[in-house]
Amino acid sequence: MSGRDDRLQTRVLRAGSPPFDSGAAPVNVPVVRASTVRFERDAERATLHRRREAGEAVSTYGRHGMATHRALEAALGELEGASDVLLAPSGLAAISLVFIALLSPGDHVLVQDSVYGPVRERIEPLLTRLGVSFSYFGASDGVPAALLRPQTRLIYVESPSSFLYEVVDLPALAAFAREHGVLLAADNTWGAGLLYRPLALGADISVQATTKYPGGHSDLMQGAVSTADAKLARRLRDTHDALGLSVGADDAYLALRGLRTLAVRLAQHGRNALEVARFLQTGTRVVARVFHPALPDHSGHALWQRDFTGANGLVSFAFRHAQPADASAFVDALRLFGIGASWGGYESLALIAPSARLREHSYWRGDVPVVRLHIGLEDPADLIDDLSQAFRRVLK
Ligand SMILES: *Cc1c(COP(=O)(O)O)cnc(C)c1O
Repeated sequence: MSGRDDRLQTRVLRAGSPPFDSGAAPVNVPVVRASTVRFERDAERATLHRRREAGEAVSTYGRHGMATHRALEAALGELEGASDVLLAPSGLAAISLVFIALLSPGDHVLVQDSVYGPVRERIEPLLTRLGVSFSYFGASDGVPAALLRPQTRLIYVESPSSFLYEVVDLPALAAFAREHGVLLAADNTWGAGLLYRPLALGADISVQATTKYPGGHSDLMQGAVSTADAKLARRLRDTHDALGLSVGADDAYLALRGLRTLAVRLAQHGRNALEVARFLQTGTRVVARVFHPALPDHSGHALWQRDFTGANGLVSFAFRHAQPADASAFVDALRLFGIGASWGGYESLALIAPSARLREHSYWRGDVPVVRLHIGLEDPADLIDDLSQAFRRVLK
C-alpha cells in the first residue's frame, strides 16, 4: 500500500490494491459482481447496516457496490483529494446527482454559460420543472455578483469549458461562494484530477465523466462525484441511493485499470495536442484561430498556468473563411481521425462544434465553423500529415 506522504501519481497507482491474504495477493483488485450480500450472522448484518446508515461506504447490498467499487473510489479519492466519492452510470448522471441532491423548489443556481451542452438541454428543463431557476454567467466575466439572489444555493462551472476551453478563476469563485453561503461545484472532466484539482482550489464538489480519460479506451460509460465535506457527502449519498445509481463491477474494474496509466497517457495526449496546436497556428493559412489553454494567446492562459499542471489532448480551431459544408468536407477527408463525440480514448477524433452550442458561450463572437479535435496517442507527425492533406483537399 502507499503511504500518506507519497506523491499524487504514486497514491493513485497504489490506492485500493488488494491486501495480502496468507502472504500473497494479485496486483489488481478482483471483479466482484453481486446483487445479494450474505451475512454470516444477523449481528454482522446489523452492524454493517448501522455503519452504512452513519455514512460509511460499506455494502449491505449489491447496488452500493462491492470491493471493486471501493478500490475505484479510493483511487478517485486520491486523485480528487476527496474523502467521499460516489460513482454514477455516466458523467451526465453524476452531474444530475449534484443538481438534484442540492437544489429544492424555489432555489436558484448560477451556471457558467459554456458548460457541457446537456446541462442546459436536459438538466435545466428537469430542474425548472422541479421549481429551480437558472442564470448563466460568462467564464471570463469574473464573479457573478450581479446575478446572485437570496435564493442562490449553487454555482456550477466547467473549466476549461467545452469546445473553446475558457478558464474560470476558481479560487476567486470559491471565495465569493463561501462569503455568500453558496456551494461551488466544478466539472473536472478536462483535468481528470491529475491536471486540475478543484477541491484543493476551494470547490465543494468535483464531478468527472470517468468515461473520458480515466476510462481511456472508449469502451466505458461512468461518472464520479467527489467531495471532502462529510456533511455534503451525506446529502449526496442519500440522493445517490434514492436514485438507485449503480455501476457494474466490470465497469468499475475498467475505470480503475485506466486510472493506473492515466498519468502517462495524459502526458502523451498533452504533448501530441500541443504539437498539433502549433501546426494549426503556423502550418496552414485556412485556420484563423486555435483554442488551447497552453497557447500564450489563449484567453485563459494565465489562469491555466496558475491553476493547472498540464493540458490534455483537446484542441479546437476556427476556420478563416468556410461554410458549414466545407467543415463537413474537411472532417470527411480525414483518414486517421474518427468523426465522433466524447473523447479521452487513445484514438484521435474530430467533431464540428454545434453552432447552437457555441452561440450559448458569451465568449464566442464568430460565425465560422469550429472543429474540435481530440488528439490521441498516434504518432503526431501522422496526425499533422492527415490534417494537412484534408485542408488541401477541401480548401484550395
Ligand atoms: C462527456 C462529458 C460529460 C458527460 O459524460 P458522459 O459519461 O458522456 O455522460 C460531462 N462533462 C463533460 C465536460 C464532458 O466532456
